[in-house]
Amino acid sequence: MDKQLQPHEFVAIKEQVIILNKAFNSVNDKNVKAVVQADVVETVKSILPDTEIATDFLNQLPEIATSRQRAERAFKQLAELVTPFPELSANQLGKLFKKVKKLPEPKWENLDRHEMTYLGWNDNGSQKKYIVAPRDGKLVGIYGDFDPKPLNGLCAICHQLGTVSMFLSKVKSRGADGNYTKRGNLICRDSSLCNAQLSSLDHLASFVETTLVK
Ligand SMILES: [Zn+2]
Repeated sequence: MDKQLQPHEFVAIKEQVIILNKAFNSVNDKNVKAVVQADVVETVKSILPDTEIATDFLNQLPEIATSRQRAERAFKQLAELVTPFPELSANQLGKLFKKVKKLPEPKWENLDRHEMTYLGWNDNGSQKKYIVAPRDGKLVGIYGDFDPKPLNGLCAICHQLGTVSMFLSKVKSRGADGNYTKRGNLICRDSSLCNAQLSSLDHLASFVETTLVK
């Protein structure tokens, strides 16, 4: 089976199904429903690769949007098209965080790698957050202090409102003294939730550019 969908595209399709579900549940006007449905079909079509599963999915879209059971079954099928985030060994992770002496391991068994554009995990003991994200076709490691205080705010990575905390990372200053400056970003406390609502790569890319020590 060809892997033709990226995790953020999978998330984007799920978002479209939610939009359609809301329209079916809250709009009475038949014409309005039809407009929303046509719009959702167009968007999903632009994301989905042209395969049998995709055609199947589009044909069933109205049922998928109204039945949770149908939706779960359809998403399971679609997941087969997704290139999951790679499960990195401790050795591979170590190479991405060379300056970290005792790198805590992410709990891979709790992660849904089909909905993972980046890897993020917290070490509550040391109040740190570790992030592995794609950049120019490679993976890069970013880490920093993660404030234990939860706040309501906009996440710099997924750009959704939710429970966020201040992530403070060292960024090499361009100054002549070579000193480090720190950059703060509010990001989701739970990186799994963040990934599950990450349907565009734009904000993640700028987060990586501004926090990566280059
Ligand atoms: Zn987020």
